[in-house]
Amino acid sequence: MPQTQPKIAIVGGGIAGSTAARFLAKAGAKVTLFEKAASLVSGPPFCHLHAGGNLYPEISDEQCLTLLKQSIDFARLYPHGVDHRPTIVALPAYCNRSTQHLMPRLEKLRARYAALVADNAENQVLGDPSIYFKCYEREAIEALKNETVKEKPQTLDEWMIPFAQKADLDKLQFPVILVQEYGLNLFRIGARLMLELKKDPNITLHLSTDVKKVQRDTDGWSVQTDTKTETFDYLVNAAGYQTGKIDDMVGVPCERMVEFKAAYVTQWEAESAYLWPEIIFQGERGTPRGMGQFTPYPQGHVQLHGMTKDITLYEDGLVASTPLSCQPQLPQNLVEKIEADWTWRETKERTQKAIKHLSRFIPSFALAKTASKPLFGAQQIPGSDPTLRVAEVAFPIPRYARCEIVKVSSTIDMAYAILENLVSLGLMEEATTVEMDDMSTSIEAEAITKEAERLCRMREYPEAMAHLCVP
Ligand SMILES: Cc1cc2nc3c(=O)[nH]c(=O)nc-3n(C[C@H](O)[C@H](O)[C@H](O)COP(=O)(O)OP(=O)(O)OC[C@H]3O[C@@H](n4cnc5c(N)ncnc54)[C@H](O)[C@@H]3O)c2cc1C
Repeated sequence: MPQTQPKIAIVGGGIAGSTAARFLAKAGAKVTLFEKAASLVSGPPFCHLHAGGNLYPEISDEQCLTLLKQSIDFARLYPHGVDHRPTIVALPAYCNRSTQHLMPRLEKLRARYAALVADNAENQVLGDPSIYFKCYEREAIEALKNETVKEKPQTLDEWMIPFAQKADLDKLQFPVILVQEYGLNLFRIGARLMLELKKDPNITLHLSTDVKKVQRDTDGWSVQTDTKTETFDYLVNAAGYQTGKIDDMVGVPCERMVEFKAAYVTQWEAESAYLWPEIIFQGERGTPRGMGQFTPYPQGHVQLHGMTKDITLYEDGLVASTPLSCQPQLPQNLVEKIEADWTWRETKERTQKAIKHLSRFIPSFALAKTASKPLFGAQQIPGSDPTLRVAEVAFPIPRYARCEIVKVSSTIDMAYAILENLVSLGLMEEATTVEMDDMSTSIEAEAITKEAERLCRMREYPEAMAHLCVP
């Protein structure tokens, strides 16, 4: 006979563990979530909804189409965390590849988005499918230079105006593409989950609680923390880059990588009154010309990635598991950054390099200043392909789910797969379903904003980052 209310332990309250908790609790399970930090979603950052994978020309069309679908689900699940500003994808003039080569994929993505909207109107979260993307030749951008910047851009052309006025067009290839890949606000999503998980009667939330040991029993698990040992029917390992530590305790086979990266928080006062789109200047990862990503937040704050070894990437920042341990070992200086803190000197040095990297294409951005410590962290990539962008969850032994997301949008497919696994093991009723429509929140936007501001203050980031550019 299936159990109606299995007891589930989730180790880790990042986006994976917290989303799993919501789905499993909704399905009727009794969930206990253990998170060693003081708040949820405090691990590696996320700022971009990869609704089509257009930041990654190197990945397969199949991965891009999956990212599109998963991103639509994610935007439906966490609407308060989506910043509805589009993304410009520009190729520098020195790139060997041309923008033209992105076109067939963009057409496929537009067609798939239109089909998803035709299938269910609730999927229309990226605007009208007919304008999923738009190409701009140089003449069209030059024509926008004399337009007045709009306080609240309504059309794609209006979003292009600041770029037309400030980008160095001589350094770019054409067409430049504007695509409906929106921003994500991790503080708002973390805030909503904090409020939601605390009030769910099916969830027991243990913050500031480190799981020290897990052990397999005949019909389940015992989970030991500093203060007690509890038994459960099923274990979800959602420990992020530390998933390997739990795997080692459990004794399961594994192959994974862990990568440390950082993004830098700046303030560009001169532009604090204007709304910018997100901008991607493509480039070869790991070289001095690595991709530059310009991600606007309110009040002139801009988060920057530069895919070079002296900005976002780090020497020996990508490490792999070994036959002896599932837990890849990062160098000590990177572990210290995660567990202790950054020196202000390094923060300023790397942020300045990031500003320089982006001001190659937006010269006046050189006046931006360091605003806070970076957003940073280590993430796992299952398997041995560092370009993998779509992964969800593995079930290496019965009653054990190992969350393996690479992009946050994969969490919903991950949660559904765990639910299916519980049903297949007889731990939940065959008829158990959770509809996306049942997952909307009763938490008010105002309460989310207040909690997001608190998280910003607690983590020492500008409070403005608790807000959306396009509320
Ligand atoms: C610089 C950077 C930028 C990124 N940008 C994006 C982006 O724009 N879009 C996107 O989709 N993705 C992005 N990612 C990837 C994204 O951050 C990760 O995929 C995602 O945050 C992983 O979530 P998670 O829940 O699996 O892990 P985590 O967020 O790491 O959560 C794991 C949690 O487990 C807890 N934990 C670990 N061990 C224990 C234990 N023993 N006991 C109790 N708790 C424990 C940890 O404290 C942590 O909170 C980015 C990653 C980086 C590094």
